[in-house]
Amino acid sequence: MATQKRYGMLYDSNKCIGCQACSTACRAENKVPDKVSRLQVWIEGPKGKYPDLITDFHRKSCVMCDSAPCVPVCPTGASYTTSDGVTLVNEKFCVGCKYCIAACPYQARFLNPETGAADKCTFCHETRVSRGQKPACVSICPTGALIFGDMNDSKSDISLALKSQRAVKPKEHLGLKPKVVTVPNWRGGDA
Ligand code: SF4
Ligand code: SF4
Ligand code: SF4
Repeated sequence: MATQKRYGMLYDSNKCIGCQACSTACRAENKVPDKVSRLQVWIEGPKGKYPDLITDFHRKSCVMCDSAPCVPVCPTGASYTTSDGVTLVNEKFCVGCKYCIAACPYQARFLNPETGAADKCTFCHETRVSRGQKPACVSICPTGALIFGDMNDSKSDISLALKSQRAVKPKEHLGLKPKVVTVPNWRGGDA
């Protein structure tokens, strides 16, 4: 019997160059309206003193918590988690109460001004991953800073990357077990 998939993503901030190809692809792929975003890449710097300058990059999106607080607060069942561990919103059932937005400690959710429903990163679950494709942001990244795949498959790119890289879970102290992890900046600076 095939093992249940469990999707995760690794963002290597050392490889990121802040080009915004990922956030642009996300907007186009998912028809995200202006003024709201499923994905942002923040550029911090350059900082330090010449010639020791450093620039940090930070990905901001849903981190796909295993223990997602946005799900149990939803009064209609619109917020739910798939069997492969992806937290999604069924916009047909969303009444726009914003409980899930308030419950998310990563500020990853927003109300979509066109649908009136809560929205966020979906791991491109319906549009790409369920068809065997990688998420749009992962596919477009020119430097390979994003690795996505099934963490239950020990031979997948994500499993191998997690074994070989020192990745950190954002806000790990909250105990929400995020499945999007970051390789921090090891080139120098404050990260
Ligand atoms: S596409 Fe890749 S390199 Fe460009 S901003 Fe996104 S993660 Fe960074
Ligand atoms: S990051 Fe926020 S929106 Fe995403 S699963 Fe966690 S609590 Fe829910
Ligand atoms: S996985 Fe899909 S929805 Fe999530 S940030 Fe990447 S492109 Fe956007």
